[in-house]
Amino acid sequence: MKENPADKLIRDRLEPGHISVEGFLGTDKRPIADIIAADTGAVEAEGLTVELLGDFLENLHQIADAGWEGRVPAYEGNVTVRADETLGQIPCPFACGSSCHKAEVVVKDPDGNDLLRFSPLDAHLISEHGFFEGNGSPHRIEPKQLIELYRHCVG
Ligand SMILES: [Zn+2]
Repeated sequence: MKENPADKLIRDRLEPGHISVEGFLGTDKRPIADIIAADTGAVEAEGLTVELLGDFLENLHQIADAGWEGRVPAYEGNVTVRADETLGQIPCPFACGSSCHKAEVVVKDPDGNDLLRFSPLDAHLISEHGFFEGNGSPHRIEPKQLIELYRHCVG
């Protein structure tokens, strides 16, 4: 798929040093639309939607924000969540007008092993734009890993 000028603008915003120091693309050279199509397709092949998975992450973020560190009532103690918030907001690189709190949400199993780390922006990017970040990006969330966590928590 060829990139139009609007896509080019978004690609610039996703490159390192614009909105985030590390950028969102890693080593991925594919057009943004192809990255999104591949990940969205992988999610839909499992009978799920990116909206559902993004909302699930946002729900975990809100639970962490509410200070229920430890057991997560909604998910019957299958996971624990903790949010480390830093000051400030980060704008959505897709220029949709949204911005999210800068934070890292850590999801652990009851033995204390990390299951997933994500930011509120990741939840937005997945839910609203079907974007899990490019291959090789330090903050990429693998759809497969997120689907596993979703099924672990929600069934
Ligand atoms: Zn957005």
